[in-house]
Amino acid sequence: MDLGLEGRRALVCAASKGLGLATARSLLAEGAVAVIAARGKKALDEAASTLEAETGKRPFTVPADLTISSEREALFAQAERLMGGVDILVANAGGPPSGPFESHGPEAWKLAIDLALGSVTHLCALALPGMKARAFGRIVQLVSIAGVEAVDGLILSNASRPAALGFAKALAREVAPHGVLVNSICPGVFLTDRIRDLAVEQAKHKGVTPEAWLAGFAGDIPLGRPGRPEAVGDLAAFLASPRNSYVTGAAVVIDGGKTRRLF
Ligand code: NAP
Repeated sequence: MDLGLEGRRALVCAASKGLGLATARSLLAEGAVAVIAARGKKALDEAASTLEAETGKRPFTVPADLTISSEREALFAQAERLMGGVDILVANAGGPPSGPFESHGPEAWKLAIDLALGSVTHLCALALPGMKARAFGRIVQLVSIAGVEAVDGLILSNASRPAALGFAKALAREVAPHGVLVNSICPGVFLTDRIRDLAVEQAKHKGVTPEAWLAGFAGDIPLGRPGRPEAVGDLAAFLASPRNSYVTGAAVVIDGGKTRRLF
């Protein structure tokens, strides 16, 4: 199936590793041009080299801290300069710290909201004028199953992610007449550094080993294993493509069957 991504211009945020990197890989492999962003310049450059070796196409790299408004503006302006415009926005950022309610002070709450909501709303505001002018745009945000059900130890995520889902749903309805489709992806358990770090933090709180915590957390996945990041990358590439002509306002859960909710 041709996704129609050849030459489309994608800004992929938080993409030096993990799910963002996998999304950049899928987009480049389908012919898109990409800018990848994250805070660490060295990791970004290494990611660009890996992607070039794997896909034959090197993405542009722009270091940026997505929690800082001025850096989001500079990132978007640089992406437009480098690619001539942004047709596809993949809004992604690091996850907030884990731990029980009492372990988080006001700064942690502010960071969680900045990561989950502040960065995505601001990046959408920057991207929409160009997308509307061209009557084409695809926005995909990476959220979490913590947006749709309670996950023990992730209270910051559980409180902030539903706001991001509500935002995307409302925005999808507003911008549909302009040819802009907006969707959310809710990953379950994928073996990235985020999950490995989470296992270490949660194991400390529970008094078990990280391996034991992870085995329990991933133990009730009907498909019997954590996901591979490329599964998220491929889903994101489809949602971000012209081939996706009718999915908008959706929160697509990709979790090997882990969540039990019906809607
Ligand atoms: P990861 O492997 O730890 O990668 C995180 C990426 O985000 C890195 O490129 C990191 O680079 C970048 N980043 C972190 N904070 C940033 C900031 N303030 N500004 C710009 N870039 C930033 O994590 P992941 O597993 O891909 O997770 C991506 C998102 O999906 C997170 O929100 C996570 O909570 C969510 N998620 C993951 C899973 C899973 O199973 N992995 C499940 C559900 C939801 P720098 O540190 O250099 O900035």
